[in-house]
Amino acid sequence: GRVDNPYAGAKVYVNPEWKAKAAAEPGGSAVANQPTGVWLDRIAAIAGVGDGMGLRDHLDAALAQKGSGEEVVQLVIYDLPGRDCAALASNGELGPNDIDRYKSDFIDPIAAILADSKYAGLRIVTTVEIDSLPNLVTNVSGRPTATPNCDTMKANGNYQKGVGYALDKLGAIPNVYNYIDAGHHGWLGWDDNFGPSAELFKTVATSNGAQLSDVHGFIVNTANYSALKEDHFGIDDSVNGVSVRQSKWVDWNRYTDELSYAQAMRTKLVSLGFDQNLGMLIDTSRNGWGGSARPTAAGAKTDVDTYVDGGRYDRRIHLGNWCNQSGAGLGERPQASPATGIDAYVWMKPPGESDGSSTAIANDEGKGFDRMCDPTYTGNPRNNNHLSGALPNAPVSGHWFSAQFQELLKNAYPPV
Ligand code: BGC
Repeated sequence: GRVDNPYAGAKVYVNPEWKAKAAAEPGGSAVANQPTGVWLDRIAAIAGVGDGMGLRDHLDAALAQKGSGEEVVQLVIYDLPGRDCAALASNGELGPNDIDRYKSDFIDPIAAILADSKYAGLRIVTTVEIDSLPNLVTNVSGRPTATPNCDTMKANGNYQKGVGYALDKLGAIPNVYNYIDAGHHGWLGWDDNFGPSAELFKTVATSNGAQLSDVHGFIVNTANYSALKEDHFGIDDSVNGVSVRQSKWVDWNRYTDELSYAQAMRTKLVSLGFDQNLGMLIDTSRNGWGGSARPTAAGAKTDVDTYVDGGRYDRRIHLGNWCNQSGAGLGERPQASPATGIDAYVWMKPPGESDGSSTAIANDEGKGFDRMCDPTYTGNPRNNNHLSGALPNAPVSGHWFSAQFQELLKNAYPPV
């Protein structure tokens, strides 16, 4: 049977492919032994792209790392039809209507491998379809942030059908632990996004064959940069009688950081009927915000903006920026049971892998060019028309980006 927290008392699989890239970087050996997620981001990744490792190769390597103890393997299930509907950088190989192919050529073969009795002794964490479902709440008609592709995916139901199918098939395997993506506080932390997203997660987890018992928990902040815990200001603070919620940075959000958001989302989900023991994962791969620019005290209480901007660790130009952020650092090292309700801090996004290219680059992965990855771009409604804050000269999403890895090392917090 499943344990309450798969990470408790277990080692976590070190992906030899990521390890080799990290170790080849100057200074990289300090973190090369950290566990990172294995992204199944296309059908070919199941067998292995080119001479890369496939799913069985990873599971076999995990068995070798396991020895006589417990071992967690972290997989990202990431190939929905019409993927990344609000952006272009991680568009995938499947078109909006390719739900049958998603089931038969992606989920079914993954489930068949994971169900192999050879792997029954591993604790297999599957994080299901990053950055998908929340788009159906926040980036559809009726919102200023709407995109035509998200309208299409809402209308055809294929995100819900795909996630439901994945939860059902993977959840049927006794040593698989499904975690659904729940965005991050800088996306779903507003009241009009928070409740409706939680309701949508419940609907998806109870349709298309899925049941609440197929869901072990949720993951937040995957491939994002939101700070774990802002120490120098809190949501209940005010300056001269004005709430920090009225600052430009917070902008009426209900949360200031990922820890408070993850714990609140967990409480909300349990109140809707999800398991009392629901566990949250927080991706801390790139939310350290250390380095010489890290504030060491609260900002001046001149007004809410000087107070928040002077004290915040997260130094993005705008909370909605998501691509290869300048100034970002490695966050908390992966660890089990770090806080109430949190199963683990994880590095699901492998640090040093790009979020998207800064200019259009031809590729055979379906990846588009999103100007949020172009440092000269002045933005759109989803980042309230600010500069993108992206590093220049980035390769296509998922490809190794040495300059970003160096930036993450330099600004790591805790320092490496
Ligand atoms: C990309 C994937 C990649 C993942 C991890 C995503 O943004 O679209 O192809 O595997 O990041 O780096």
